[in-house]
Amino acid sequence: MFVNQITLQNYRNYEQLKLGSFGPVNLLIGQNAQGKTNLVEALYVLALTKSHRTARDKELIAFSETSAYIGAEVSRKYGDVKLELMLSTQGKKAKINGLEQRKLSDFVGTLNVVMFAPEDLEIVKGTPGIRRRFLDMEIGQVAPGYLYHLQQYQKVLVQRNNLLKQAWGKEASIQVMLEVWNEQLAEHGVKIVKKRKQFIKKLQKWALEIHQGITGGKEALQLTYVPSFGEADEEDEAVLLDRFMLKLSQVREQEIRRGMTLAGPHRDDLAFSINGREVQTYGSQGQQRTTALSLKLAEIELIHEEIGEYPVLLLDDVLSELDPYRQTQLIETFQDKVQTFITATGVESLNTGRLKEAGIYHVHAGQ
Ligand code: ATP
Ligand code: MG
Repeated sequence: MFVNQITLQNYRNYEQLKLGSFGPVNLLIGQNAQGKTNLVEALYVLALTKSHRTARDKELIAFSETSAYIGAEVSRKYGDVKLELMLSTQGKKAKINGLEQRKLSDFVGTLNVVMFAPEDLEIVKGTPGIRRRFLDMEIGQVAPGYLYHLQQYQKVLVQRNNLLKQAWGKEASIQVMLEVWNEQLAEHGVKIVKKRKQFIKKLQKWALEIHQGITGGKEALQLTYVPSFGEADEEDEAVLLDRFMLKLSQVREQEIRRGMTLAGPHRDDLAFSINGREVQTYGSQGQQRTTALSLKLAEIELIHEEIGEYPVLLLDDVLSELDPYRQTQLIETFQDKVQTFITATGVESLNTGRLKEAGIYHVHAGQ
């Protein structure tokens, strides 16, 4: 798919922007704090209705304004679509070809993007919460229904935790209510875990291949789901349901003591290993960076596999950090199939032949 045109109003430091005639490779060049990241972020937000940088939509709206607008014309295999997202302090509204979408989850997936930014290193190095967020955002793009189960799960989780907080010393009286929440928690939780495992299995195939390409066949990258209940590779829903319920009964006393839910997809993790050793613990800085890169590039192939079209690639500040060989590798791999937006502070830091034919946009003070 291909972004032809983008319109912004009161989005971060863009008061008004209309940019068009994008090509396959687009360079956004400008000094620090001019709006380069804001522009690629806007495309990301249009794809996912959420930013990769913040969970607070208010930050996306220009200072002293109460609403923001992101619009784009996107060419897809089946035709052109006009996407619009209105952000306000009251909430979000999304339109496809002028038609307001009842659910935001119906809007997500109309534009697909893969973003690679410096903070993606945290997917490898950071806390489990960052890896869960990565999984949820990426699966949400390709698997219809996933975000629905996630939202429902989170709702039940809040209610169940509230109940557990008051449960100490009143175990008998909360019994019935807890059973109700357990069932709902497991119903949605199992769907989430199953989808995550399927996603990781597919991503694994591509990540291994791409990582081997980058490292000249020396490193075998392995992704593993780390579950809080059941076996890592179990995907059968009935079995998962059984294991989840069993685990909840095992941790019950502890949950009441601590006033929180201790098993479920909100406690799961994703582990990376290279040649059998955990990257988070033993990997060098370069290996961690390459792992994150392989993961992102694998996503491009996975999205293609799932929806039959390549997503748009957003490279924020990362190309200049790669050595010339890896820059070339990255651009050449996806040349002619993946539309790419690249931000950098100067063209000097970018030295692949392919970039010479890129469209160059100079970003200065929100213009
Ligand atoms: P760098 O090279 O340092 O990464 P950049 O060009 O990517 O810079 P952006 O992150 O896009 O810079 O931010 C540009 C400016 O946008 C910053 O000065 C920031 O203060 C401003 N900004 C961020 N949020 C808002 C907002 N809600 N309203 C107005 N301006 C904002
Ligand atoms: Mg930036």
